Amino acid sequence: MSARTVSCPSCGSPNRVEPEQVSRGREPVCGRCRAHLPVCVAPVEVNDAVFDGEVLGAALPVLLDIWAPWCVPCRSMEPVVAEIASSFAGRLRVARMNVDESPETVARLRIRGVPTLIIFEDGREVTRMIGVRDKDELLRRLSPVT
Ligand SMILES: [Zn+2]
Repeated sequence: MSARTVSCPSCGSPNRVEPEQVSRGREPVCGRCRAHLPVCVAPVEVNDAVFDGEVLGAALPVLLDIWAPWCVPCRSMEPVVAEIASSFAGRLRVARMNVDESPETVARLRIRGVPTLIIFEDGREVTRMIGVRDKDELLRRLSPVT
């Protein structure tokens, strides 16, 4: 992901934004008027190799979407999770983990089915949701950490 220019919705100033930095915890605000900038941040893909650093070691709370390519209900979570990644840009890190590519982490977290959504804060699991959830419920469950 490379830097892009975003116009401030409040004052119209152009701002240079690095989506990678936003996903790591820099809240996108306008340099001139400090208004929140609408930045599209994609969920980060994680697997066994990077799970500890990207999820447990994240500076921000993390919403982890655990999915599988063969899971039909998981597909309905995809746009909801993507929307949350952008609307909480800089305040919440959103990650997706494919169970087929992450067998060690799946065993460690004792994942029994997909989709499973887990909220982590300071490297600890705080909430787990098993099965499809709508956006309202996700927002409710995220409110204590965001
Ligand atoms: Zn502005």
